[in-house]
Amino acid sequence: MNPLLTEVTSETALPLFDQINVEHFEPAIDKVLSENRQLIENLLASSASTWDSLVYPMESAEDRLNNVWSVVSHYNAVLNSDELREVYKRLISKLTQYHTELGQNEALFQTYKRLAESAEYAQLNGSQQKVIDNCLRDFKLSGIGLNESDKQSYSELKQALSVLTNSFSENVLDATQGWTKYIESADELKGLPESALQLLASLAKEQGHDKGHLLTLDIPSYLPVMTYCENSALREELYKAYLTRASDQGPNAGKWDNSENIQKIMSTRQALAKLLSFDNYAQRSLASKMAGSVEEVMGFLEQLADKALPIAKNEFSALSAYAKDNFGQASLNAWDVAFYSEKLRQQRYDISQEELKPYFPVSVVLKGLFEVVAKLFDIEVKARPEVQTCHADAHYYSVYAGGQEIAGFYLDLYARKNKRGGAWMADCRTRRRLADGSLQLPVANLVCNFTPPVDGKDSLLTHNEVTTLFHEFGHGLHHMLTKIEAADVSGIAGVPWDVVELPSQFLENWCWQEESIPLISSHFESGESLPKALLDKMLAAKHYQSGMMMVRQLEFSMFDFQLHRDFSESEQTDVLTLLDAIRKKVSVKIPPEYSRFSHSFSHIFSGGYAAGYYSYKWAEVLAADAFSRFEEEGIFNKETGQSYKREILEVGGSKDAMDMFVAFRGRKPSVDPLLKQAGIQP
Ligand code: ZN
Repeated sequence: MNPLLTEVTSETALPLFDQINVEHFEPAIDKVLSENRQLIENLLASSASTWDSLVYPMESAEDRLNNVWSVVSHYNAVLNSDELREVYKRLISKLTQYHTELGQNEALFQTYKRLAESAEYAQLNGSQQKVIDNCLRDFKLSGIGLNESDKQSYSELKQALSVLTNSFSENVLDATQGWTKYIESADELKGLPESALQLLASLAKEQGHDKGHLLTLDIPSYLPVMTYCENSALREELYKAYLTRASDQGPNAGKWDNSENIQKIMSTRQALAKLLSFDNYAQRSLASKMAGSVEEVMGFLEQLADKALPIAKNEFSALSAYAKDNFGQASLNAWDVAFYSEKLRQQRYDISQEELKPYFPVSVVLKGLFEVVAKLFDIEVKARPEVQTCHADAHYYSVYAGGQEIAGFYLDLYARKNKRGGAWMADCRTRRRLADGSLQLPVANLVCNFTPPVDGKDSLLTHNEVTTLFHEFGHGLHHMLTKIEAADVSGIAGVPWDVVELPSQFLENWCWQEESIPLISSHFESGESLPKALLDKMLAAKHYQSGMMMVRQLEFSMFDFQLHRDFSESEQTDVLTLLDAIRKKVSVKIPPEYSRFSHSFSHIFSGGYAAGYYSYKWAEVLAADAFSRFEEEGIFNKETGQSYKREILEVGGSKDAMDMFVAFRGRKPSVDPLLKQAGIQP
């Protein structure tokens, strides 16, 4: 028996890690996929068209697949091996194939459509209706419902787009790797911290030099030079190489030029959107997001820009004056900004993450985190050492409400070999009502990459790491505290892209409050909690140049969104002209003529952020505004906590996101709390 395929009942819902091996992955996925295909065929043949006869069996099949796949992808992320990598690649392609088939299944679409138009639909509960609505929406977005010739055009455009976006990212990669500069004398690199010099020296060795340093355009090389290197000419050279990557300008002009790719990607996207009856790609992007209309997003960005720009301008003048008075720098060039900003930051807020570490032993932070969420949401988190996990570093915890177990999570905190870097939350089990009437409880995987403990002593966390832990736990709560029973909109499932980061950023706030600091900090020697003076200093440092940071993000967001709204092949929209116009409106420092930022803006031209870059700011606004109710009513106010849990965390993706927010906040989101939190507005 394949241990990945034991039937899930509420009692045996957790993966049997002691029996699971890489060799089980492919047979398990193969079996589930083939049984799912058979099921769909049977459903269509039987003309099933009710919730119970159609949607529920489909959900069960998808959930079974998810329960197996979540284990496979988790192993791939935290226990990788050459063998697994091969299997994983094959399985990804099998899954993609399966989901493409599903999305293109016209008969299945018609069946869902009949259900949506039937008398039964009106009798279903809100989350069931949302499941059906989402399905129909996704079918339409995948081109179902088009006539045969449009369907053909649709799939050709899709194909073309995937070739173009791939070529875009290859150009960026090649251009990034296609420039290096060897530096013989370390004098030229004065100002760089030791760690950066070591990295550059090791890069030089890799390239066969027995001494010296090598500059590259990768971030770990680029950033330290721009931030610390005293040599202005060198910074300028590096800046120019970086900002002209994959373009018609700079040291490799024309070699990996993305100019044509950008034009073609944009005209293909507009054509795709029009085939699906949208006016433009920006509108198409919003079809599955919280933001209601193109005007709403633009209004949102402009409102932030109006408030942030004057502050950003002041920050820039202060920086210019500082560089002039202290270093005789007459005016700031684009390649000077990061450099003098760092000098000024050090002068004003000399505070290092290392200094803060003694206050944050990991056991204290965890206990504090669980206390914070207990106070806020009236839940209890308990370690369950008897539950098996996939690695000795990972531990299982259960979450209880009113004495009853409602969810669980695996916590895997430390970096190790064969584990992917970064921090994330992923679902392991989704809350849903099982066929026998019992509940499958939601289970989350929470993964970080903190420094492992040495000699059995507690690891000490930086404050950044503490914030990361709270962030991921916020995602986890969104998944675990849901009360929804339909898997497609339960927990984090079905939550719009521009809302996903709301619960995570929201919970970060408790890392910055005078009232919560004593819960989460205790000096590993003296037991003293983080002093208020230090917290104040951290807050001031957090606000440093936040206006400049904000307008930069707004520039990217506006460029992305306006381009996907306005681009027209027939009118020969010029990407650079559009970007220039936006910069004139919201930038504090216009970059040189040769700059080709757009040519390496992979987020929107080859990542998933097309007409969606605004989501970063959108979710920040939601999180800050939700938190502002706690500031008004008390950051540990029980009723406010219950209201947040009920209106936001419990509903998952089952409700229109704006309705959800309004139910909690009593009004639509306001940008003011974010501006206040960033220190931009008093
Ligand atoms: Zn996140």
